[in-house]
Amino acid sequence: MKIKEIQPTPIQKLNKKLNDNQFYIKRDDLISFSFGGNKVRKAFLFFENLENINSDYIVTYGSSSSNHCRIIANIAASKKIPCIIISPHELSKNTFNKNMMDIFGAEIIQCPVTKVKITIDNTIRELQNKGFKPYFIQGGGHGNLGTQAYVDAYKEIIDFENELNIYFDYIFHTSGTGTTQAGLICGNLIHNNSKKIIGISNARNKNLGGKVVLESVNNYLKSIGKKSVSSDCVNFIDDYILDGYGSYNNDILQTIRDVLINEGIPLDTTYTGKAFWGMTEYIKEHNITGKNILFIHTGGTPLFFDNLGELIDE
Ligand SMILES: *Cc1c(COP(=O)(O)O)cnc(C)c1O
Repeated sequence: MKIKEIQPTPIQKLNKKLNDNQFYIKRDDLISFSFGGNKVRKAFLFFENLENINSDYIVTYGSSSSNHCRIIANIAASKKIPCIIISPHELSKNTFNKNMMDIFGAEIIQCPVTKVKITIDNTIRELQNKGFKPYFIQGGGHGNLGTQAYVDAYKEIIDFENELNIYFDYIFHTSGTGTTQAGLICGNLIHNNSKKIIGISNARNKNLGGKVVLESVNNYLKSIGKKSVSSDCVNFIDDYILDGYGSYNNDILQTIRDVLINEGIPLDTTYTGKAFWGMTEYIKEHNITGKNILFIHTGGTPLFFDNLGELIDE
């Protein structure tokens, strides 16, 4: 028997108290490859596809702090497949993810944000001209395989509920490029469930972010022969994005301290800490009481260490 690459991740109860709700967390940060996270679930499916069609070069896109790029570079290195990462100039900082990408030997091509598309196209064409069969993965692991990853994760949640006789009324998580949320929404539909899936945006506004999630949902549903759905299915919340990608405030830092101290779980300012704070605010604002609430920890542990100094500096 083949050992599954992704084992079901633990779901644990939190000490957190708010409005008589019970809080649980699904630890996708503990997926046992390269510090885990949602990008590992997605990446394994992309690499399976790449191997099926015998591609021999990988090209992807993301910033120097990107969890997606760290994981793609790590899997590529472990399989000895050469890897190119196209990265926007503006965001290039010295992060732990960037350091790891260097260790994995990924070739990083920097370009202005406005030149991303053309740089990707040119890079792919050059590789083809040299006789390679490049495989392109969209930033964040976008696409039907990315959605599939969270349809699979949703199944793990259902299995957990059945085994422990619990029902989660809400699932909260960080929503970025959208397929984590799309996969959860599709899982909800496929299993005829009516959980509220609340994606807390870390950057995009509702118009763009919600639209991309809905497109991803409907692309996936179409691929499995199901009817498309309307935007009513998508709760993409942009009330907590502050000044957009990477911005945070003292409440987020305090949330990260609290969760670290009270639960022993690391969160970061860009993704999970921001969403955990957003979840807390959302629950207060919507006066949600007496529910079972599951937060999905989508990973990003190296970012926790990037922020560590600021947690101490209070
Ligand atoms: C990429 C990422 C997200 C967002 O997931 P999407 O599928 O892009 O919406 C959330 N959390 C972490 C830690 C991430 O790296």
